[in-house]
Amino acid sequence: MKTFTFLIDALYRIIDANADWFAFAAENDAPELFEENVFGKSLMDFIGDEETRHLYHLLFDRVRRQNRAIELPFRCDSPAIRRFMTMRLVPVADKAIRIETEILREEVRIPIRMPNAGQVRSKDFIRMCSWCKRIEAQTGWSTVEEAVRQLKMFHRIPLPGISHGICPDCEIIVRQEIESLDVEKFLGNEG
Ligand SMILES: [Zn+2]
Repeated sequence: MKTFTFLIDALYRIIDANADWFAFAAENDAPELFEENVFGKSLMDFIGDEETRHLYHLLFDRVRRQNRAIELPFRCDSPAIRRFMTMRLVPVADKAIRIETEILREEVRIPIRMPNAGQVRSKDFIRMCSWCKRIEAQTGWSTVEEAVRQLKMFHRIPLPGISHGICPDCEIIVRQEIESLDVEKFLGNEG
């Protein structure tokens, strides 16, 4: 199993990453994640919404204070692949944190047309959860496929923009992880 790992210092600056990380960035055509574009920059600059930045601050703070690792599920989809991933935040020396992400499983899907950076967008925004990648549609938080149908995204030109946030289900998971003292594993027991 490949682990995509990077390291942030006490000020959230990205100071190291492993080879698999850069290979993943290259495969996914994400030059914004190449070494010259990330080292020295704050991780928070890569997180689009205030809500999610706030939760990351709480998570990092807790990992440092309790000197314990935290593990959380998240999604990192591309238009043609659903990726179910896990993220481990591991405290290391000098308040640095090692962030290890792994793909648990992938599902191929019919490629979805989604707004990309640089595309012309309408002034409409759809809300997407940064953690599970679901979209807020008429009937609640839905998969992208369902939301495309409900919100008639294919019929809108230009495509609506995406504003990121967190859905109520993921907020519960993340907050439980931040608040609970029992759920997470002690570093030493992780094998
Ligand atoms: Zn969510």
